[in-house]
Amino acid sequence: MNRPPLLSRLARASGDRARDALLRRLRTITDVEGSHVVVDGKRLLNFASNDYLGLAQHPAVVEALVGAARRWGVGASAAHLLGGHREEHDLLERELAAWCGRDRAALFSTGYMANLGIMQALLDPRAVCIQDKLNHVCLIDGARLSGARLRRYVHADVDSARRQLDSDPAAAALLATDGVFSMDGDIAPLQALARLCREQQATLVVDDAHGLGVLGADGSGSVADAGLGQADVPVYMATLGKALGVAGAFVAGSEALVDGLIQFARTHVYTTAMPPALAAATRVAVRLARDEAWRREKLARLITQFRAGATRRGIALAESRTPIQPVLVGKSDEATRLSAQLEAAGFFVPAIRPPTVAENGARLRVTLSAAHEEADVDALLAALGASWATPG
Ligand SMILES: *Cc1c(COP(=O)(O)O)cnc(C)c1O
Repeated sequence: MNRPPLLSRLARASGDRARDALLRRLRTITDVEGSHVVVDGKRLLNFASNDYLGLAQHPAVVEALVGAARRWGVGASAAHLLGGHREEHDLLERELAAWCGRDRAALFSTGYMANLGIMQALLDPRAVCIQDKLNHVCLIDGARLSGARLRRYVHADVDSARRQLDSDPAAAALLATDGVFSMDGDIAPLQALARLCREQQATLVVDDAHGLGVLGADGSGSVADAGLGQADVPVYMATLGKALGVAGAFVAGSEALVDGLIQFARTHVYTTAMPPALAAATRVAVRLARDEAWRREKLARLITQFRAGATRRGIALAESRTPIQPVLVGKSDEATRLSAQLEAAGFFVPAIRPPTVAENGARLRVTLSAAHEEADVDALLAALGASWATPG
């Protein structure tokens, strides 16, 4: 026998990455204070967090977690269907559904698992799954795992999506899109996609990981902000680990959808329910995200300030009105150099390189938060301007 050795094959792949200077580096954060993190003993202003509303360290959210842990303990100790579903989960699901204007919601432990569960419960190998090329990897993985035929369309191009649907008119069809694209910060053409799905009798799934809390007057996300509801977007998924500053995810929609997920989504059935204290903390985070509109208003001001300042300095930005503000660099080594220079100047802004983004699509993924101050953004712009102008 002469089987290929798996572990040495893996080590070789890592070696290839190291040789190409593409090795990802795991950084350990040893302290967090507001929008600063401490890495390697150095205090850095963090522009890499998805805590868009500044809720991750909010005292009321922390207090809810601690208080609920005293009452419920730490672990849920079982899957939802087998005694793990506590009152805090139930109340959170109701509050999330109400916020997003849906009949009902079901919690999942992570967004990754929620998307795998949606795809696996709805699709089978006879179905077709149409996806934006820039969708988050877990939507793609979910479609692959379901066995459905996966067809990807040109980013945000509704005609391209239509062609993919037309090429398979008899199959059951699901069209999935990020609401806000995680590496580019742009918003999907949701109204046109909803129209297309209605014409084509396809089911529209929106992953609003970066839209919930951020978009819409009450933070209820990209779908509501586009003037759409449950009839247009029957499957709405969002995560709790970004703007809500907590962890986990949910899927919201009709009673029939949520009933079906609870029965058939394997990543819901066969996994331990999220800790009930986390659900309790999330309930407070939802209330703050919904009611404290000043967080979104402040964020909008910081976004405007950042974009104006970058444009003035000739820094190339992606077209985005969300807190995800990618600085387009192109070459991986150049993005790495800029990131290192910013770090030396006191800013944490990691470089995002292929294969996470397209070849020559390397960037600095700057994210803004209501926890930042105007002076923080000014300081970043000054440092970015200086590094940008200095050839490596
Ligand atoms: C972060 C993210 C996910 C995954 O959510 P987790 O809760 O972190 O697993 C899914 N979809 C999108 C678009 C994301 O940005």
